[in-house]
Amino acid sequence: MDCLFCKIAEGKIPSKPVFQDHRIYAFADIHPQAPVHFLIIPREHIASLHEADESHRELLGHMLGVAAEIARQKGLGNGYRVVANIGPDGGQTVDHLHLHVLGGRAMTWPPG
Ligand code: 5GP
Ligand code: ZN
Repeated sequence: MDCLFCKIAEGKIPSKPVFQDHRIYAFADIHPQAPVHFLIIPREHIASLHEADESHRELLGHMLGVAAEIARQKGLGNGYRVVANIGPDGGQTVDHLHLHVLGGRAMTWPPG
């Protein structure tokens, strides 16, 4: 399968790692939208949150928990944002489930 984020998780395409374990990989976004902007992906290919099923629930919780843990390590105590873009209307451009973690500046609402 020709998936950019699978290749990044496998180390076939270089990236700047932020965290990794046997289930997930976190790395800096190539086009950061905030002073801190990294992505958390499962090593397993799941196209988006829409394709995740009951067997992925623990994995999804782990991704969120790691988002918070890295945010704490990076000193984002004043707040940050965790985003999942899903499908065409959600603005997803890479079809491998990922969480964006953005921080280091005040975010606006509503999103575009
Ligand atoms: P989406 O729009 O699917 O929610 O987010 C995809 C994200 O992946 C974008 O923020 C984009 O900057 C990032 N991205 C796309 N290609 C690469 C890449 O080759 N390396 C890294 N580190 N990030 C990428
Ligand atoms: Zn993939």
